[in-house]
Amino acid sequence: MKAAREIGVLCRVATARMPTKWGMYNAAGFERVANGTAQIDTALALIMGDLTGEAPLLRIHSQCFTGEGLGSLRCDCSDQLSMAMRAIAGEGRGLVIYEYQEGRGIGLMAKLQAYELQDNGIDTVEANHVLGFRADCRDYSLPVAILRELGVHRVRLLTNNPAKARALSDAGIEVVARISCEAKANSYSLPYLRTKKEKMDHALGFQHHDGTGQIKDLRALEAAIPHALHWI
Ligand SMILES: [Zn+2]
Repeated sequence: MKAAREIGVLCRVATARMPTKWGMYNAAGFERVANGTAQIDTALALIMGDLTGEAPLLRIHSQCFTGEGLGSLRCDCSDQLSMAMRAIAGEGRGLVIYEYQEGRGIGLMAKLQAYELQDNGIDTVEANHVLGFRADCRDYSLPVAILRELGVHRVRLLTNNPAKARALSDAGIEVVARISCEAKANSYSLPYLRTKKEKMDHALGFQHHDGTGQIKDLRALEAAIPHALHWI
């Protein structure tokens, strides 16, 4: 039987082998009772290899049911998750922390409402504002707690989002490198990605990919364009 849950205390629920098309991960499930509410926040850490020593690759990924479950082409989330898991498997070590923050934290129904507004001509940031949300409602305190629990204090972060890197740094996780995780845009995702670049400062170039959305050689990429990857 489970012990009573304490507010703010992180609990590891289970760890299980998770064979994937990119290799064998271990999936560790975590939950935490949120402060001030009865809500239980949950997240998965998909871990490969030994995380001690040199800063491992890390992707903090927010659930995207529409992209990952339905194959929606309106965003780049599914491709980013695939790229991260492939890159980690390529090094044989690293982790993805998968959070349930659909639609940058607004939830699936509000995300659909935001899509409806975007179909009528406004962008993703304006749609959030019309619905009464901030442009990005996500909070990274749960992944930070998971990283601490796993003993990971230095990371190489796979993201195009500088705010995500800053959130980790502000919480005391050293981001020794930010590594581009840019998927190929399509005609449906391009307006959304342009807005993320122009209004949310995402580091997107719309040109480096080879058409497969694949990070081919991470070491070579880091060595070749260190300024693009090392932001501190
Ligand atoms: Zn998405």
